Amino acid sequence: MPDAANPATPARSATRGRYRFREYRVAAVPDPMTLPGYEAVCVTGEEHDCAAASGTLHTPGELTRWIAEHCATTGHELYEQTTRAILRAEPGAWQ
Ligand SMILES: [Zn+2]
Repeated sequence: MPDAANPATPARSATRGRYRFREYRVAAVPDPMTLPGYEAVCVTGEEHDCAAASGTLHTPGELTRWIAEHCATTGHELYEQTTRAILRAEPGAWQ
């Protein structure tokens, strides 16, 4: 399973500098009109995930509470979390 010594991995450092992502800064925007969103989906299961979903919650605490309650009633232990946030791109933020 570990493939850290994979000799087939091409060296990519030669292409560094051709991309200009650093010219943009992307900042989280605290927007009182848009609450952050957190969702957890239960991915416990052998052939099929349980797929129970919390729906959109607005604090990490609510998310943890939903997971704890689902785990307490089902014993399920694996969850996938999705976090929603508003970002703003700021072109020209580099030095
Ligand atoms: Zn479940």
